[in-house]
Amino acid sequence: MIRKTRLFTPGPTPLLPAAQFAMAAADIHHRTPEFRALYSRVLAQLKDFVGTKNDVIILSSSGTGAMEASVSNLTSPGDRVLVLTAGKFGERWTALAKAFGCSVDVISKPYGQTFDLNEVKEALKLETRAVFMQASETSTGTSHDVEGVAKLLKEVNSEALLIVDAITGLGTTPLDMDAWGVDVLVGGSQKAVMIPPGLSYLAVSERAWERMEGTYNPRYYFDLRKERKNAKNGESAYTPAVALIAALGAALDYIAAQADGDLAAGRAKLVDNAQVIAKMTREACVALGFKLFSTSPSPAATAVLAPEGVDSGVIVKALKTRFGAIITNGQGEMKGQLFRIAHLGFFDFLDTMALLAALEQVAVTDLKLPNVQFGTALIPAQKVFAEAAAK
Ligand SMILES: *Cc1c(COP(=O)(O)O)cnc(C)c1O
Repeated sequence: MIRKTRLFTPGPTPLLPAAQFAMAAADIHHRTPEFRALYSRVLAQLKDFVGTKNDVIILSSSGTGAMEASVSNLTSPGDRVLVLTAGKFGERWTALAKAFGCSVDVISKPYGQTFDLNEVKEALKLETRAVFMQASETSTGTSHDVEGVAKLLKEVNSEALLIVDAITGLGTTPLDMDAWGVDVLVGGSQKAVMIPPGLSYLAVSERAWERMEGTYNPRYYFDLRKERKNAKNGESAYTPAVALIAALGAALDYIAAQADGDLAAGRAKLVDNAQVIAKMTREACVALGFKLFSTSPSPAATAVLAPEGVDSGVIVKALKTRFGAIITNGQGEMKGQLFRIAHLGFFDFLDTMALLAALEQVAVTDLKLPNVQFGTALIPAQKVFAEAAAK
């Protein structure tokens, strides 16, 4: 039978056709009025997508570049910082902060879990200069409570900046940066905005811009103040990834078009889409007898434990070879234990039902799971969708 290859991975995610066309047509020079018009428009749209009045900066790098920029621009060697980690991406904050000479306090929770705000409160010191966390820890499919941490920092009058990797939080989770008082929100292009890898972006609060005036960690390519200055003139400091910026513009147009041109409302619909698909997936997986890995499941991606005695790689491989569906295994020490299915970006009902049907096939015919038959996964998914559609 024909098998179409389809990505169900939490970055890169499936590409929006309109963005692909925009990329192919983006044969323009970056020091021209055409590019300046494009860049200024995309930066303004991106603010609406993030949902902030703060300036947003685009960098030509994968998401980690913007994570690094927020460490190098906002800390000085010896600064005390707090990292909240419960997965591979949380560990990246620790590694980055150490690489830039920070004195790092770490709250580390087991994979699949999230933090207790009381623990965060206890770990905060008077001299804590910054707190780093994920909105959604993609390696474990877990949501963390950004609003709770933001509130806590306000409550205790902390001077710490709150720096959030929202690379899979944006477009999947309601995030109100300005109202909550988040200082930096980091995003990446290959996630909910439906374009290829290669761009990262970050929204930066006034408080964080002020902090940058006094920090002295080394930075050059990722100097945010330089980028901000150039962005005001519709340019970037160095040659930008022009084609990806054109693609991003097309994707943001598409998101706005979901709500008659209102980008904020379109983003809310995108968030809702991910949440409904995530719920369909969770209920289908539980009905198949699988256990969810996370105690606080993320709408960006669902991490599912393989049944006892089954290597999760078998499920990943069966979906790929039999159905062309690409899902991801666990990362690092979670490899073999779990598989992950993405919901962020350009996924719809048909994609979701097809994947769940394929998973059901694998459960029935490859794994021969007890108490599972055709329909076991699909019926609950249908119900979740029908309930959401009736709202
Ligand atoms: C994808 C992702 C990143 C960025 O990874 P890159 O490979 O540098 O793009 C960072 N944090 C989270 C939570 C992610 O999902």
